[in-house]
Amino acid sequence: MDSSRIRIISDDITRLSVDAIVNAANRSLLGGGGVDGAIHRAAGPELLAECRTLGGCETGQAKLTRGYRLPARYVIHTVGPIWQDGEQEEPALLASCYRQSLQLAVEQAICTIAFPAISCGVYGYPLDEAARIAIREVRHFLAHDDQIEMVYLVCFGGDVRQAYEQALCEKEG
Ligand code: ADP
Repeated sequence: MDSSRIRIISDDITRLSVDAIVNAANRSLLGGGGVDGAIHRAAGPELLAECRTLGGCETGQAKLTRGYRLPARYVIHTVGPIWQDGEQEEPALLASCYRQSLQLAVEQAICTIAFPAISCGVYGYPLDEAARIAIREVRHFLAHDDQIEMVYLVCFGGDVRQAYEQALCEKEG
């Protein structure tokens, strides 16, 4: 499976000059902690104002806004599942976040997109499993799409990077 359009990087996602960054938001879309808080701080209050017009977002879905003061032109807000025991549709919902975000990106003519490790912070998703799902979904999507030029999987902490690198090495299951 071709992974030449997937790049694992360690960075602060709010600093990236890509067409779109993905926000690991909550269902209200009105801001929170973690990467969500960092994105809102960097984008400025106009982002919250646009988010208020969206009426929230269901878990596993995604919605698009402009990026305002961010270097990225757009923000794709997606809501990852809160990890409970793995039996509450968490894997399917997390997979859906990646698919829906990529689908929105393609509809918006976005070519470069950066994802944080959705659900891997406060939402408590086990890193190895989340990384496997992220890599699998991005690979599947790219196999049927030639618009997206690069997908960055952004790590903010060493453990996440290790999980991604391991998952990238694994054969397609
Ligand atoms: P969730 O609620 O979906 O778990 P969090 O924001 O708590 O979302 O964490 C998701 C991931 O984003 C974690 O791996 C966290 O380390 C990472 N993260 C936090 N801030 C940033 C940032 N500025 N850039 C990239 N990743 C970040």
